[in-house]
Amino acid sequence: MKAAVWYEKEDIRIEEIPEPEISPGHVKVKIKACGICGSDLHEYYSGPFIIPSKPHPLTGRSGGPLILGHEFSGEVVEVANDVRRFAVGDRITVNPLIYCGQCHFCRRGEHIMCSKLGTVGFAWDGAFAQYGLFPEYSLIKLPDAVTDDMGAAVEPLAAAIHAVNRSGMKIGDNVAIIGAGPIGLFVQQACKAAGAGHVYVVEPMKARAETAAKTGASAVFDPTAVDAGKEIGKLTDGLRADIAFDCVGIQQSFDTAVKVTGRRATICVVGLALKPIEVPFIRLWGHEKRIIFSSGYQDEFQAAVAYMEDGRVNVDHLITGHIDLDDLVDGGIKELREHPDRHVKILVHP
Ligand SMILES: [Zn+2]
Ligand SMILES: [Zn+2]
Repeated sequence: MKAAVWYEKEDIRIEEIPEPEISPGHVKVKIKACGICGSDLHEYYSGPFIIPSKPHPLTGRSGGPLILGHEFSGEVVEVANDVRRFAVGDRITVNPLIYCGQCHFCRRGEHIMCSKLGTVGFAWDGAFAQYGLFPEYSLIKLPDAVTDDMGAAVEPLAAAIHAVNRSGMKIGDNVAIIGAGPIGLFVQQACKAAGAGHVYVVEPMKARAETAAKTGASAVFDPTAVDAGKEIGKLTDGLRADIAFDCVGIQQSFDTAVKVTGRRATICVVGLALKPIEVPFIRLWGHEKRIIFSSGYQDEFQAAVAYMEDGRVNVDHLITGHIDLDDLVDGGIKELREHPDRHVKILVHP
């Protein structure tokens, strides 16, 4: 089969390799669509990053060669003898978490906190390939109304729903989304689906701001042109937002999250900050704000599928490109890095 194999940073090769062989507890999947994630860009430009650098305790994998790709849909083509819940022909997506099932957090269903946590596409071969092999427990069935392209977006939408759950958002809360990339745009829609009052978006790039408006933002502000905190204040009787989601993870986006929120507000940090961020302590202290973090998902995949199935969340507006596996680096990874203003999500069709 054809696969895009990561060897080390700036070295992904399109190769012909053997198809994965079925093993107990596993399902073989023909990949239909796989989204390129910001973390795939991190692995390409500066990895290994999430890819383990010593053998993973559950999969034994470390470094390259490894197949990236963790946001995908596919069709079951073979199941192990002990697999009960899936059959050949089922359309599926995958919750990429690989966990021990035995530790304190796994026993409570909080797999994202597993001390041995690994992820498909980082500690196990992912979906930038024609076929993949995944544990039965990781698969989620897709209904007919959720297309293969939509199925490839279930994972980022699950991460967005998890962020809303982590934030403690209540019906009627006014929220602000900082950064309208793939996660920000999904957090925006998940907040609306979950009953937010107004959903304000702060985004400097024009195309992304337009997508935010198209997918239901109450108002969109360009932070390079206006003071988003003051603007949101004008629309909320000076109260500003009850919750801000920092979906970028840099100093400026965190500063904006502080500015757009009011007293006793919550800042939910979803974007991955690679560098330390300075915190304006006195302002957070004086306003008794809370800062919490959201780093993945638990069981939000079924909710994500339901939100797509009945149209509460729009995926089409977020998909800005379709490419072949051969074009992963130039037409996908580099394109996203060099033209973030033109793209939200690019799908690879192996
Ligand atoms: Zn991702
Ligand atoms: Zn565990």
